[in-house]
Amino acid sequence: MKAVLFHKHGGPEVLEYSDFPTPQPKPGEALVKLHAAALNRMDIFVRNGWHGLKLDLPHINGADGAGEIVSFGDNAEKSETGQLEIGDHVVIDANLGCGDCEYCRSGRDNLCRNWHLLGETIPGTYAEFITLPVRQLYKLPKDYDYHLAVSAALVYQTAWHSMVKRGEVKAGETVAIVGAGGGVNSASIQVGKYLGARVIVIGSNSKKLEQAEAIGADVLIDRSKEEDWSKAVFLATGKQGADVVVDNIGTTFPLSLRALKKGGRLLTVGNSGGPHFEIDNRYIFAKHLSILGSTMSTLAEFSEVMDLVVGGKLKPIHDMAFPLKEAAAAQVRLWHGENFGRITLTIP
Ligand SMILES: [Zn+2]
Repeated sequence: MKAVLFHKHGGPEVLEYSDFPTPQPKPGEALVKLHAAALNRMDIFVRNGWHGLKLDLPHINGADGAGEIVSFGDNAEKSETGQLEIGDHVVIDANLGCGDCEYCRSGRDNLCRNWHLLGETIPGTYAEFITLPVRQLYKLPKDYDYHLAVSAALVYQTAWHSMVKRGEVKAGETVAIVGAGGGVNSASIQVGKYLGARVIVIGSNSKKLEQAEAIGADVLIDRSKEEDWSKAVFLATGKQGADVVVDNIGTTFPLSLRALKKGGRLLTVGNSGGPHFEIDNRYIFAKHLSILGSTMSTLAEFSEVMDLVVGGKLKPIHDMAFPLKEAAAAQVRLWHGENFGRITLTIP
């Protein structure tokens, strides 16, 4: 098959459109002909490499993918549960639990003891074909667009688990989201609105804030103009502070802690600003704050949120599609933050 892969870590120039052995499904797995993949910043971090990352090279990037089932392991015509058949359109849940440890058996597969993220340590979706356990596949309606499906998958499951299961965001609460442009942040705006919350977005420029407003943000704060935006959150909440702050930057935690009301929750699923920063512990105990981290979601939550996506309750935001061959150019666009919504690849 054709895939975009790299033999060594480095910049976008290490990506090659090349031949790679077509994987064969094992029992319990399906072979999927991919039609679309979506980019995540993680793809670029993996391509660059980091200290301690050990991959079998060449490696294939990509967590998000959607396509059509072409076969099952053991030449079965249907999945063991009978819920998937050859020809079904599916989108991938990239959160790979082992299916066997105590966490997976109790439905908390995102805490799996042998957890993997597709495309990080396992060859990913920048390829014509992929094999996965059938439990990782969500059946799409035949007329649902593959590019919208991959635009939704990872970012919506991440936002859903964080806001619904960890943060328990309720109707009428105020949620402040630090950052307007990223995929998880735009999903968080929509999930917040779906839950009935008032959503404040703190963005780095007016264009991204306008886009955030277009998808439902109620209050916009431009942090290029207001260095201490926690004050603006304070004023926008009747001097109470926000019930919940979604902060996936990390280095902004000091302001996020200040922006929270007493008893508030800080939700985090990432650290796009880097992993190390100082926080003032006095805010945490004196204001009874909780810091709730998570990554990805369980299989059940993935189905829950994808039901809302295909039902039209949550609308994935698609930036633009590049041909698979041009994955390097697509990653450059993502790296420079030129996109609003997800960048996808069209797989021939
Ligand atoms: Zn497990």
